[in-house]
Amino acid sequence: MSRVYNFSAGPSMLPESVLKRAASELLEYGTSGQSVMEMSHRSKEYTEIIEGTEALLREVMNIPDNYKVLFLQGGASSQFAMVPLNLMNKSGKADYVLSGQFSTKAYKEACRYGDVKAVASSKEQNFSRIPEIDPAECRSDADYFHICMNNTIYGTVFHELPQTGDVPLVADVSSCILSCPIDVTKFGLLYAGAQKNMAPAGLTVVIVRDDLIGHARDITPTMFDYKVHADAGSMYNTPPTYSIYMCKLVLEWIKNEIGGLEAMEKINVNKAQILYDYLDKSKLFKGCAEKSSRSIMNVTFVTGDTDLDAEFVKAAAANGFVNIKGHRSVGGMRASIYNAMPTEGIEKLVAFMEEFEKKHV
Ligand SMILES: *Cc1c(COP(=O)(O)O)cnc(C)c1O
Repeated sequence: MSRVYNFSAGPSMLPESVLKRAASELLEYGTSGQSVMEMSHRSKEYTEIIEGTEALLREVMNIPDNYKVLFLQGGASSQFAMVPLNLMNKSGKADYVLSGQFSTKAYKEACRYGDVKAVASSKEQNFSRIPEIDPAECRSDADYFHICMNNTIYGTVFHELPQTGDVPLVADVSSCILSCPIDVTKFGLLYAGAQKNMAPAGLTVVIVRDDLIGHARDITPTMFDYKVHADAGSMYNTPPTYSIYMCKLVLEWIKNEIGGLEAMEKINVNKAQILYDYLDKSKLFKGCAEKSSRSIMNVTFVTGDTDLDAEFVKAAAANGFVNIKGHRSVGGMRASIYNAMPTEGIEKLVAFMEEFEKKHV
């Protein structure tokens, strides 16, 4: 067996030690006589798993007690509706920053429910950077202010958070959660599809401040009400049991093998630096994101020639660097280098790019 270096934007690589541990427990978890996949979510064994996952997430991310952690389904995309349904309940206004495709989708969904304003956008720059936010555009009576922290498709990230005063800051952190420390107290709500940096697909994690729970609109479907899930400890209905268990293993890996999120960030910054340093001196490849907005999770680049891009993607795959093609909407290349991508994977990719460059300039 040989494993490839998988640069997919999600679902993406999982740490090898996590996969091995899961494999070793696949037929029988502990002395339960069954797989986690087969367990009742109400069983004693499973209760320990879900409670342990939450406790670990709280510890690793340093989540204060006045925030609830919810393990949901429906992906980050469901949160595009769930956020306005629950939070847009006083002035009925919400401000959004358009920094890419997902934030635009979130904005469009929210528009169905109230007075939603795009206060800044970098669409004109093809989302190659995080837009500047003019405070005069922001509404102090908005029910919340929404950003997509790391823009998976374009490879940009908010290096500084917008100042929103008393307006709760809501962030889609699908592609940057657990990549570095995040000061949860700066946010009213954080949400993430787990399939990028936390677990296999199927799990959506929401971290929400207590005071923002319990004010959902009347029309809100029961399954879309944060209070329903908070009151039931994410057990209102069947949660994505196996993904939650995998999330626990990933959190144990971060805590015990990596040494926490500060250590994780150091590794990730170094990994991204190796790739960006090469892109900055390459005569063939060019980074797409403006330097001041560069993501350490998704690195986008092009040769400037779409045929050559396609040739590179094909050659890379043949050499064990798979899924390096850019998002279908933008083309070019994208190396998603989440937590589980080893430094060695980046070093080998750069060596391969250097070889490719020699043959093509
Ligand atoms: C992948 C992604 C989404 C979509 O997530 P789903 O879980 O597939 O709905 C939304 N936002 C960001 C930032 C993403 O990276």
